[in-house]
Amino acid sequence: MSRPGALRRTLTAMWNERREASYRTAQVCQNGHLITSAIELSPERQQKFCGKCGASTLTTWLGCNSPIHGYHDSPGIVSMRAVDIDAYCYHCGAGYPWTVARLEAGRELIELSNEEPSEKESLKNDLTAVTTDTPKGKVAGLRLKRFIAKAGAEIGPPLRQIVVDVATATIKKDLGL
Ligand SMILES: [Zn+2]
Ligand SMILES: [Zn+2]
Repeated sequence: MSRPGALRRTLTAMWNERREASYRTAQVCQNGHLITSAIELSPERQQKFCGKCGASTLTTWLGCNSPIHGYHDSPGIVSMRAVDIDAYCYHCGAGYPWTVARLEAGRELIELSNEEPSEKESLKNDLTAVTTDTPKGKVAGLRLKRFIAKAGAEIGPPLRQIVVDVATATIKKDLGL
């Protein structure tokens, strides 16, 4: 008797197991500073607090008890790329504390600008949009880049840094950031 449902479940379980196994666990501070990209490989690098900002560190997102993804192990490939810490939890979709804090700081900067209220609102939405790889995210990135260029020395550079911190790797590359 064929059991396609059971087979699919077995394959899905194997696939999930492989995917899980391929990520090492990162330790990050509440503000998103990377402490180590693989606590399994270098446990001695773990710290209770961040040396850059003094915030406490975490290896597991307490919202759903999922480990923070760090170094990605691909068989046969040694990656020299810096680890990009996720903006959102891959398990429950919640924004990580560093994402929430950066978006909040960015919104406050936009609020300080001389734009019309409706323009401020759409720029704030653009800031959220660049955290995800969607067609909307790309357009949002372009608008933010234009705004940063004309926003002046007090708002432009810090907002640019926030966009660099929250935007996806693809959007950053497209924008030349
Ligand atoms: Zn920190
Ligand atoms: Zn989660």
